[in-house]
Amino acid sequence: MSDIIIQLPDGVNKSFPKGTTVGEIIESIGAQNSAVGAKVNGSLADFYFEIDSDAVLEPIKMNSEEGLYFIRHTAAHIMAEAVQSLFPEAKVTIGPVIENGFYYDFEYSRGFTPEDLEKIEKKMKEIVDQKKPLTRRKVSRDDAISIFDKDGEHYKVEIVNDLPSDQPITIYDQEGWYDLCRGPHAPSTGFVKAFKLLNSAGAYWRGDEKKAMLQRIYGTAFWDRKELKKYLDRLEEAKKRDHRKLGKELDLFSIQEEVGAGLVLWHPKGSRIRRVIEDFWREKHEEYGYELLYTPHIAHIDLWKTSGHLDFYNENMFPRMDFENTEYQLKPMNCPFHIMIYKTGLRSYRDLPLRWAEIGTVYRYERSGVLHGLLRVRGFSQDDAHIFCRPDQIEEEVIGVLDLMILFLSTFGFDDYEIYLSTRPEKFVGDADVWDRATDALRKALDSKGLQYEVDEGGGAFYGPKIDLKIKDVLGRAWQCSTVQVDFNLPERFDMTFVGEDNARHQPIMIHRAIFGSMERFFGVLIEHYGGAFPLWLSPVQMRIATIGDEQVEYGEKVFKTLKESGMRVEKDFRNEKLGFKVREAQLEKIPYLLVIGNNEMESGTVAPRKLGGKNLPTMTVDEFMNSIESELDPQKWREVE
Ligand SMILES: [Zn+2]
Ligand SMILES: [Zn+2]
Repeated sequence: MSDIIIQLPDGVNKSFPKGTTVGEIIESIGAQNSAVGAKVNGSLADFYFEIDSDAVLEPIKMNSEEGLYFIRHTAAHIMAEAVQSLFPEAKVTIGPVIENGFYYDFEYSRGFTPEDLEKIEKKMKEIVDQKKPLTRRKVSRDDAISIFDKDGEHYKVEIVNDLPSDQPITIYDQEGWYDLCRGPHAPSTGFVKAFKLLNSAGAYWRGDEKKAMLQRIYGTAFWDRKELKKYLDRLEEAKKRDHRKLGKELDLFSIQEEVGAGLVLWHPKGSRIRRVIEDFWREKHEEYGYELLYTPHIAHIDLWKTSGHLDFYNENMFPRMDFENTEYQLKPMNCPFHIMIYKTGLRSYRDLPLRWAEIGTVYRYERSGVLHGLLRVRGFSQDDAHIFCRPDQIEEEVIGVLDLMILFLSTFGFDDYEIYLSTRPEKFVGDADVWDRATDALRKALDSKGLQYEVDEGGGAFYGPKIDLKIKDVLGRAWQCSTVQVDFNLPERFDMTFVGEDNARHQPIMIHRAIFGSMERFFGVLIEHYGGAFPLWLSPVQMRIATIGDEQVEYGEKVFKTLKESGMRVEKDFRNEKLGFKVREAQLEKIPYLLVIGNNEMESGTVAPRKLGGKNLPTMTVDEFMNSIESELDPQKWREVE
């Protein structure tokens, strides 16, 4: 038998007989206690993977991101074995690793209850304790079909039948139970030391609503209990901050069946927050040289033909409406309207750049299954803007957009970003040279702001390169938010021009950009980021006056009037209730300040402020109070006092 040369991490080359397994090699270098698998020539492989030719091998540590993949995939198998041993009629389908965990879909006559999940977890624990090896076996297509056919596992038979003919088929055995799988897995079930089943839900086979409804169980697994606990605590915290729950409790917004799925109603308190955001947004846009536009919600079908939306965006648009022998389309985007405004006049190189912004409400068709609170809706308002500029202005314009982006996001409390630069894909419109120059301009703009970013090579849209930005909230979750997109397509389709210095006609560059993305989605993220306790300048109710007894009502009214006249969003609680009750209510409503008034305060013309979170401030006059909160009321200063 011939030998193969394996290049190990320390740069050492070692020879092994052909067909040596990853596990044997790892053991030969003494890494078997920390490793859960390996990377062989860059691909993940488990201990039972046989190596047939020279290769580079790098052990994967249990406590690493890649190690988690092995552990979670193994956990999915353990769960499937546990389910079939407790519910023998359950049929297995697929069980992939997903972000933060894994799931497995079963065909079963009913949904799995929380009690079922407890039983399954207990059974899984037994399987883990048995430390059963997960060995790898190659089988022929015919054998695979006959094995799973005999077991009555018709989904597995279907999967085998759908595999490309040149793909090797492997079965993983774990002493008495097996599954069709490509792997890789941990060497044994004993590696899954910390796991938890989270919930179960219905899911269609192959995600197709015309196919069978399956029962999905979600779970997660980590390399140790401490990591698992950290994750579960974070999930618990996320649940408390769920914007759908807080939106209802704090009376901010609703989405109602009678109105329609994915259509948001902003209640008075939610609307107050939105107005504060929009006022700040408008003020800053004017400061940054933008003009503000308003455009209609529907447009003649020909506009969407010209823009190309009827071709490449059709499935995201609502059906057309037909009247007076003309078809109209509800707008999925604002861009064509801004272009039509551009085209109303002759533009010279001296007029550019034109920066036009609009909080424009658009409608996009999303399947009802993917709708989610404010985060995924059917009608939403983009904080949209289009910049029309000369090719030599791209970099400067993008720097301006990035400045505004950082200003906005940090104002709302977000300092951690993930930024991606997406470059030219294989299929593209426009000139490759122009693409390269534009991409370079985006790169230079990011560099000049000192921003870290990843390059997504070939990940751009067909019509131009772009920058995407995700914000990270207090729980470390990333949310897609801002975009800057260069577009070579629409200026061409709409035959846009400007007169250059040379008196000839040139095509302007169009830059689409949004900072919040959508007001609805950004609001959802804000609610979760702050857990409903908004900073003072954003809070729908900034302060509430609470009297201790009836005798202070008249003075209370005076304080209320003064604060109201200073522009405060102030409420009064002059009810005949105990102070403790009034305090608790204000806390539940997450009101930043409760101004308590008793006889002392009335006599000395003061208030006793209590800050949300329990801190009592010294008694002070209303003027003193207003001075003390001045920074907190200022969008651009409040973070200094955080
Ligand atoms: Zn597997
Ligand atoms: Zn646009």
